[in-house]
Amino acid sequence: MQVKLDVRIAEKMRDTIIEAPNVYDAEPIPAGAMEEVARLLATGDLFRYTATDNSPVALLETEFAELLGARYALAVSSCSAALFLSLKALDLPRDARVMIPAFTFAAVPSAVIHAGCMPVLCECGDDYRINLDDFAARLPDVQAVIISHMRGHTSDMDAIMSLCQAAGTPVVEDAAHSLGTTWRDRNIGTIGAIGCFSFQSYKLINAGEGGIMISDDPDLIARAVIMSGAYEHNWKKHPVLQKSFARWQNQLPLYNLRLNNLSAAVIRPQLAELPRRVRDGRANHDRVAAALHAMPWFDVPQKLAPEQRAPDSIQFNLVNVDAGQTARFVSFAAEQGIKVQVFGQSTDNARAFWNWGFLGDTPDLPQTRAMLMRACDVRLPARLTSSDCDRVSDILIAAVQDAVAD
Ligand SMILES: *Cc1c(COP(=O)(O)O)cnc(C)c1O
Repeated sequence: MQVKLDVRIAEKMRDTIIEAPNVYDAEPIPAGAMEEVARLLATGDLFRYTATDNSPVALLETEFAELLGARYALAVSSCSAALFLSLKALDLPRDARVMIPAFTFAAVPSAVIHAGCMPVLCECGDDYRINLDDFAARLPDVQAVIISHMRGHTSDMDAIMSLCQAAGTPVVEDAAHSLGTTWRDRNIGTIGAIGCFSFQSYKLINAGEGGIMISDDPDLIARAVIMSGAYEHNWKKHPVLQKSFARWQNQLPLYNLRLNNLSAAVIRPQLAELPRRVRDGRANHDRVAAALHAMPWFDVPQKLAPEQRAPDSIQFNLVNVDAGQTARFVSFAAEQGIKVQVFGQSTDNARAFWNWGFLGDTPDLPQTRAMLMRACDVRLPARLTSSDCDRVSDILIAAVQDAVAD
């Protein structure tokens, strides 16, 4: 009976519409990158510190800081490296406790451990954001906080900053998925002491790998610059107050997490694409969100009022749909070419905190666990057309109709 129904709906979908859009492929890198890459290959000038000034990495740092409205930027090998260096730059004592949201990517607690600190996980709610009561309760016991704006969902930064300022606790923003997002017209990543971004291929700017950190604090950035591998006097090639650097000469370990010129050459021409990617990504998200929201089975959590998002994916919760029906929903959508990730239900998911076995005992976080068991995630890159987006929402709606049919 149910098998028949599957076939009927699936056949109807096949008759009516063309195939599902590809939501995985990246956008082509702007053609302008080619000339610079060719020049670098021809000269072999790949190391950021070979040139005395204006290396592609140094230019990227200047442009990125200006774009975000920060005083300083340091480009590094990944966002994880940026998070690690941020904690090192804060000069926390060994085994310092660092609070992170329990809904984040495994790289975040890993960076905390890499920095010799101990992650303290805080509950997140059904809207994917930090539970402020739990945050406030844990704050007195931690020496630093990393706010992961997971999937670009901004937690209440007013509340977080006022709690942390009152406690004297430094805030690092993991803005890997928040490039282009604003909070009260301020760029995410400029609110905490340090903001960290990723250029890995699934983020808004794609260099395969890469990261960057921004700060207004010359001492923090100077320490991070030296530890990123500005050995000997290479720090003189960074436009940061030279007296901040001189203090740290030979005093800090060199972790060698630098970015290379080829990556910077691939990133720089994409900065100009950012406004379009933000605009189109937001429009795509809002279009699919509206279509799903009109149906009774989908709860698409709203943005917070001060937040302007820059999404490249959509997250939603199924309403009155049990675990078995959710599994049918996922498999129907997959047959139609749309992969829905339910964070807590796929094996070994790196965003499910109970899979972070390297932490030791799994913390008890019932609210985050319940959210992860039903939160659905679908990629929705900026390059999709509006009919691509409609195809995605049609498939999701047909899939839930199939799943709840008896
Ligand atoms: C991708 C991502 C990271 C890790 O970025 P890398 O550049 O791959 O190290 C960290 N946090 C969040 C929220 C991410 O989405």
